[in-house]
Amino acid sequence: MASIPERAQVVIVGGGIVGCSIAYHLTLRGWTDVVLLERKQLTSGTTWHAAGLVGQLRATHNLTRLAQYTTELYATLEKETGQATGFRQIGSLALAASEGRLEELKRGASMARCFGLEASVLTPAQAKELWPLVSTEGLLGAVHLPRDGQTNPIDTTQALAKGARSRGAQIFENVKVSEILVSKGRATGVRTAEGDVEAEYVVNCAGMWAHELGKQAGVSIPLHAAEHFYVVTEAIPGLPRHLPVLRDADACTYVKEDAGKLLVGWFEPKAKPWGMEGIPESFAFDSLPDDLEHIEPLLEAAIKRVPALGGAGIQLFFNGPESFTPDNRYLLGESPEIRRLFVAAGFNSIGIQSAGGAGKVLADWIIDGHPPMDLSDVDIRRTMPFQRNRKYLKDRTVEVLGLLYAMHWPFRQPESSRGVRKSALHDRLAARGACFGEAAGWERANWFAPPGVSPTYEYSYGRQNWFAHSAEEHKAVRERVGLFDQSSFGKFILEGPDGGARRSRRLYAMAQRPRRHRSGPDCDPRK
Ligand SMILES: Cc1cc2nc3c(=O)[nH]c(=O)nc-3n(C[C@H](O)[C@H](O)[C@H](O)COP(=O)(O)OP(=O)(O)OC[C@H]3O[C@@H](n4cnc5c(N)ncnc54)[C@H](O)[C@@H]3O)c2cc1C
Repeated sequence: MASIPERAQVVIVGGGIVGCSIAYHLTLRGWTDVVLLERKQLTSGTTWHAAGLVGQLRATHNLTRLAQYTTELYATLEKETGQATGFRQIGSLALAASEGRLEELKRGASMARCFGLEASVLTPAQAKELWPLVSTEGLLGAVHLPRDGQTNPIDTTQALAKGARSRGAQIFENVKVSEILVSKGRATGVRTAEGDVEAEYVVNCAGMWAHELGKQAGVSIPLHAAEHFYVVTEAIPGLPRHLPVLRDADACTYVKEDAGKLLVGWFEPKAKPWGMEGIPESFAFDSLPDDLEHIEPLLEAAIKRVPALGGAGIQLFFNGPESFTPDNRYLLGESPEIRRLFVAAGFNSIGIQSAGGAGKVLADWIIDGHPPMDLSDVDIRRTMPFQRNRKYLKDRTVEVLGLLYAMHWPFRQPESSRGVRKSALHDRLAARGACFGEAAGWERANWFAPPGVSPTYEYSYGRQNWFAHSAEEHKAVRERVGLFDQSSFGKFILEGPDGGARRSRRLYAMAQRPRRHRSGPDCDPRK
């Protein structure tokens, strides 16, 4: 085996689908002096066991654009590289068994159409035509996205690696990065048992190991692994081929047809965090122990929706770890703590469908020195140092996995790991009936319940319970006076040799600006 080079323009740590996609996209833009180091074998972390669902609709336009790009890339990768990927554009079908869910799906469908995705709202009978094994009992409707797909994660990763290699990237397996080297606040390379590799840029794509690797360099990468379960049935006689991926979020379930069998997986409301004592050094292509008690109620709910599952033998009970972040969005970009140290990790069970787009924009970001589009949804600069805390991450992970299929209510607040940062006024605000939301770990008073009303959210897609109370507050501020606790808001420190002078000039200029909205005897601008 060739030995690792002493220097490279970019060193990528981690040979999962994300690291390989970044190597693919850097080389696509002509940056070919790229070295990828993988501690075991490519895909041996989380990627190998993924179910391979490739959905395109995400919560925002930009994230949807990235997932759309992933689909386009996977559809052409085999032709470009000669490596089969198993990608099939068979579509997806999302079911609604409650009014709220139907509303959510309909809103999703109209958003999808605005983003240029095909989407149709179906009746339960139409859904059954597409997925004949589904029971329509309790179903209110469904949404069909015909261009969604599924892929083979191992083969797709190998195709990305092959594309990167063909343009000059060097990929080394069985080379573990023990340390990210930093000098004067800038990443300068990595240390391995085979020697150091000097680099202009280092990219941490170490999956669930990324947290520890980042911590050692003083970088916060808040993610925690959780167990994720699926089963694969034995072959089901007469099972139609090319069924769309089925999502019954009200039953926490997804179902994928594969080679005459069904793969059934779950995003349950109370997940099982994993790896609290660290991830074993030997971990590669490993799975975690079964937990039949944990999945039994989930399996029962899935059988209600797809009764054929009840009669099918189970060939495989699978449990594998995946990393989750406190806000269920992945972490991408240059770390705020160390320049030229980039991160792409914490993919919250959508790493296969995100890898194409995330790899492309991160490569652009490295090469151009800025993100190619608004990536604030996933920008790692949104994270806070306190989020390194293990207990905070573990407790939040119990909730976060289930949020993938929970109702995505407007204003929904996390329930776990709360109360991390409280302002000096917290108790006084609580005594006045504040209903708190979370902002960067702060407890922020979002609205005030009048006496006799409970300060808790009642979520819906309609007008929520706080509306009238918030309106009262708004009116009070407009017509009388309001006092805002701004502890949770960002503050800027202006530093530098003449920072003070500039600041005073700016404040002076602001003070001189005419205030057209201020008038009357009580509004003397000098006060
Ligand atoms: C059961 C299950 C089903 C899933 N199904 C889907 C799905 O249907 N669709 C979807 O989009 N996503 C799915 N996912 C999620 C998806 O698998 C992950 O998000 C994705 O694989 C993450 O890829 P990665 O490259 O970030 O991490 P990984 O694949 O874990 O890659 C990280 C790599 O870094 C290496 N590494 C770590 N530390 C070092 C070091 N110090 N030096 C060198 N190398 C190092 C590791 O060995 C590993 O190979 C699923 C996950 C699970 C668990």
